[in-house]
Amino acid sequence: MSHHATPEADHPKDLSGSRRPVLASRLHGLGTTIFAEMSALAVATGSINLGQGFPDTDGPAAIAESAARAILEGRGNQYPPGLGIPELRRAVADHQSDWYGLEYDPDTEVLITAGATEAIAAALLAVINPGDEVIAFEPYYDSYAACIAMAGGVRVPATLRPPTEQQPRWHPDLDALAASITERTRVLLLNTPHNPTGMVLTEAELRTLAQLAITHDLIVITDEVYEHLVFEGAHVPMATLPGMRDRTITISSSGKTFSFTGWKIGWVTGTAELVTAVRTTKQFLTYVSGGPFQYAIAEALRLPRDYYTEMSASLRARRDLLAAGLADLGFGVSATEGTYFITTDIRPLGEEDGLAFCRALPERCGVVAIPNAVFYDDKQAGAPFVRFTFCKKPQVLSAALDRLAALAKPQ
Ligand code: PMP
Ligand code: GLN
Repeated sequence: MSHHATPEADHPKDLSGSRRPVLASRLHGLGTTIFAEMSALAVATGSINLGQGFPDTDGPAAIAESAARAILEGRGNQYPPGLGIPELRRAVADHQSDWYGLEYDPDTEVLITAGATEAIAAALLAVINPGDEVIAFEPYYDSYAACIAMAGGVRVPATLRPPTEQQPRWHPDLDALAASITERTRVLLLNTPHNPTGMVLTEAELRTLAQLAITHDLIVITDEVYEHLVFEGAHVPMATLPGMRDRTITISSSGKTFSFTGWKIGWVTGTAELVTAVRTTKQFLTYVSGGPFQYAIAEALRLPRDYYTEMSASLRARRDLLAAGLADLGFGVSATEGTYFITTDIRPLGEEDGLAFCRALPERCGVVAIPNAVFYDDKQAGAPFVRFTFCKKPQVLSAALDRLAALAKPQ
């Protein structure tokens, strides 16, 4: 993120004569992730961290005990199978079938990964040839840009439109997206529910995207890690649409659904051909990971529906608390349809530059948030938007709101 580094960091004193830059040119511009930067700032300043999305309450104790038991009983302490343990692959296949009517063969059509992060990297590295274009919604989740770059691909933004009077939700401009398809377009990289805007694609939008993928013979990689955090409308997996199962690599993860983001158990579902392609790269990234945690997540996926209902109801209440509080303080707040993030517009506060706003926020009132601009190529388009997470205890959200009230006071 050289554009906002200090001039000195931008141009370090050249003490090494003619040494070439260490970082490969395709990775230029990829500095420390904003999540690491902002969480470190929160710790350093004692701020309430509504930046990086991780819950402040762990998932079910019974699932944590299951992981501990697996370690003590010697299950998964040595390399698990490359595809993941059969129990978890079966549980993932059953989850897709029970929730969405999608049938996958656990032996050939399911792959367990080191979180969704590795699944995204492995999928992009598997299918992109150098120069291939990847269309993705902007703002991008930050690992998308990095992984497209690592694969030698070219990212093509489909900039999401902020809420308007006619469309009071973040929404895609599907005509603009269609117009950006070229002969080099290889992948449509989707994320619904969408981080950071909280948009959930409607079935009609998904149908249009599916038609484009079929017409132009695109592979769809769809990141559905927030599939169980939908508060308005319903989550519709792209793979359920007619003709899409054969060209869709679906990615999800246990981190959000079960509040164990540190365990890093994710998965891929797709046809045997697609999953084999992803496994081909995955086996040389980590090979395997998280053996004992795989046993615990296999159990978690079989929790009764009540678990999912209660988890999303609890987050919905916290969304409402934070949204109402931020609106009262004068932020522009649009309805979060899914995820555990609220994207706010800071212009009603008389602010324009989200990056400067977020850098100053810990000092001004002891709260950390994420500037959406870092997820945009078009920095101008992202400048006024700032993301807050609500996956924290209600009292923490209330305390953050109390602190943010200082913004309203004359300085
Ligand atoms: N995709 C999106 C949209 C995310 O928000 C996250 C989350 N943190 C990930 C992928 C990564 O998931 P994981 O922690 O399972 O690697
Ligand atoms: N997905 C989380 C977020 O968007 C953070 C993930 C990370 O730190 N890499 O806040």
